[in-house]
Amino acid sequence: MDLSPELLSVAGTIDFDPDALKTKYLSERDKRVREDGIGQYIEVTAEFSHYVDDPYVAPGFTRAPVFDDVEFAIIGGGFGGLMMGARLREAGFRKIRVVESAGDFGGTWYWNRYPGAMCDVESYCYLPLLEELGYMPKHKYSFAPEILEHSKAIARHYKLYDDALLQTSITAMAWDEGRKRWVISTSRGDRFTAQYVAMANGPLNRPKLPGIPGINDFKGHTFHTSRWDYAYTGGDSSGGLAKLGDKRVGIIGTGATAVQCIPHLGEWAKELFVFQRTPSSIDVRNNGPTDPAWAASLTPGWQKRRMDNFNTLVSGGDAEEDLVKDGWTDIFRSVTGTAVKEASRKIGRRLTGAERAQLMELADYRKMNQIRARVDAIVKDPDVAAKLKPWYRQFCKRPCFHDEYLQTYNRPNVTLVDTNGRGVERLTEDGVVANGQEYKVDCLIFATGFEVGTSYTRRAGYDIVGRGGQTLSEHWRDGLRTLHGLTTHGFPNCFFLGFTQGAITISVPQALREQATHVTHLVTEAKKRGAEVLEPTAAGEESYVQEVRSLARLGTRFYSECTPGYYNSEGAKGNRSGFFSDMYGAGPLRFFEVLDEWRGTGKLEGLELR
Ligand code: NDP
Repeated sequence: MDLSPELLSVAGTIDFDPDALKTKYLSERDKRVREDGIGQYIEVTAEFSHYVDDPYVAPGFTRAPVFDDVEFAIIGGGFGGLMMGARLREAGFRKIRVVESAGDFGGTWYWNRYPGAMCDVESYCYLPLLEELGYMPKHKYSFAPEILEHSKAIARHYKLYDDALLQTSITAMAWDEGRKRWVISTSRGDRFTAQYVAMANGPLNRPKLPGIPGINDFKGHTFHTSRWDYAYTGGDSSGGLAKLGDKRVGIIGTGATAVQCIPHLGEWAKELFVFQRTPSSIDVRNNGPTDPAWAASLTPGWQKRRMDNFNTLVSGGDAEEDLVKDGWTDIFRSVTGTAVKEASRKIGRRLTGAERAQLMELADYRKMNQIRARVDAIVKDPDVAAKLKPWYRQFCKRPCFHDEYLQTYNRPNVTLVDTNGRGVERLTEDGVVANGQEYKVDCLIFATGFEVGTSYTRRAGYDIVGRGGQTLSEHWRDGLRTLHGLTTHGFPNCFFLGFTQGAITISVPQALREQATHVTHLVTEAKKRGAEVLEPTAAGEESYVQEVRSLARLGTRFYSECTPGYYNSEGAKGNRSGFFSDMYGAGPLRFFEVLDEWRGTGKLEGLELR
């Protein structure tokens, strides 16, 4: 790394060799990049479809199908759907129908009930609509059951249960231009119409399995972490997995999910084998109960202010105060904008792009050295510690925060089976083969994450037929095409919430909140102006697509140098359906401003009302 003397004077102590680290990172990446990329995973359909069965509902649910008309259909009852429903109710919409394949509201928090499940973003920012519901989370970082309960409370508060269809999946959705309605069919024989539809089906909604030989040969018990089988393990989300006391358990994967459930498996299983391909970065958690005095001191509007402050800091922006003061804000303050601003102030001029990148790279090495030193400080066996050290830049993978995960490897019943980047080789009738050795297990848990990077309609599970019979898969064949990430030409009155050409925020609910606000504005304006249909014009859509593409800076050099994972489409270049593909590159703060300014003009530019 060639640092100018000026930059060296503000770069702080460099007690490591940046070039050696970079070389190490690239060699660890190269070990893992595979030809088959996202093709290495198996889709959970056909003989694997039981992996997505709902273990949390009583079998045998039936109901009469519905054939009515609603004002607004919302597909998905997770945070996106809840937020959308809430805003629409506040705006006076009466006939709102949420359709949800799960047995209740909650989305990711409905499905992910694995032991130790919790949110690693501060609850006071993350849990939606706290002030509206008059609710204060119990801890700085909420555990999953509380988030699920809060989701149901939102649904009750905004009367979203009234017309909801739970345990129901969409099978077809087509626009009827004559009636100016969406015609929606479901797995329960419903066929109803809706003036508007909001797609709130989530970015990580389909579990994936590793496509390894012998996956069907294993005769023991298996499940995916997002469908935890408590009937087999005993216990609940808080732990107590007593039925594992005589079991040899294997878990494949060491991502954010595994990091949270492994401490419980280590505590209760007779033996635990953790099969690791790439270690996660594990920083300090430091959870604690909510301070009642602090909660009592809050004044109206506090949640929005806190969310904005958090979002500013974790988007590389500058704020006088850090209200959240946690691992996220700490990483961003040291690795992104704030550190650069400080250096620039000391030098007395703006830094060039290259200088900024160099400073950020140095800060990243420092941060990751700290993460690696933490492993050494906690894990007693130096060989095991060495295998648990992540060799990549902080945001190549989702950073994790946990105070019991690394400690689990000090237990005598826990074995880390590191595969040196290769992954497990195959399954046999009795267990897992890794590094050429068979590990016999009674139960195998897949903590292998969720489908990302395949087409939107494949992940939704059905295609959407728009005006003139055009399908969404055709319209988006060469990449997403939207206006503001929310509407698309040829698909009138249909809104896409989530990760479709909008901006990603660390606290995802904040982005969903902005999107729900914007959609509510659109449909309210349409109503006011006497229109029944709204749709982006072809030109409006094209102009936004061009803007997004010209801003695209993610997925380029930074992610190409990263170890593979779902953030970079497993190392494949140019995947237009990838997680960060086509995101609004100027960041969430600017994106929210753009929406706000657009609403402010009152011109509804790029939209056509009929
Ligand atoms: P991930 O995709 O992050 O992790 C999947 C894991 O499976 C990785 O460790 C991967 O290794 C491993 N893997 C895949 N194939 C193989 C194989 N053949 N052999 C061995 N290992 C394999 O999924 P998660 O469910 O952990 O997390 C998904 C996301 O959910 C997170 O990134 C986060 O956004 C969210 N989440 C959020 C939480 C929160 O607190 N808000 C908590 C938990 C999850 P490799 O890294 O080498 O690919």
